[in-house]
Amino acid sequence: MSEPGDEKKLVPFPFSRSGLSRTREAPRNLGLTEMSAKAERSGRGAKGHWCSNCKGIWYSYFLECECPVCGRRG
Ligand SMILES: [Zn+2]
Repeated sequence: MSEPGDEKKLVPFPFSRSGLSRTREAPRNLGLTEMSAKAERSGRGAKGHWCSNCKGIWYSYFLECECPVCGRRG
């Protein structure tokens, strides 16, 4: 079962410290909305919103419902 040199690839956690993931199924990080970025650049504590169009999560401090990337409301 063990072949020499047959190393298993390390799979990163879906939510690594960088906030980005290389796994195919993990959601993309779409970043903060323009309004939220002006309020707090770090994005710390912002609420995540799923965009099914972008298949990713964008973040906002406000009650926004529009994806900052594609403009889809969800
Ligand atoms: Zn979107």
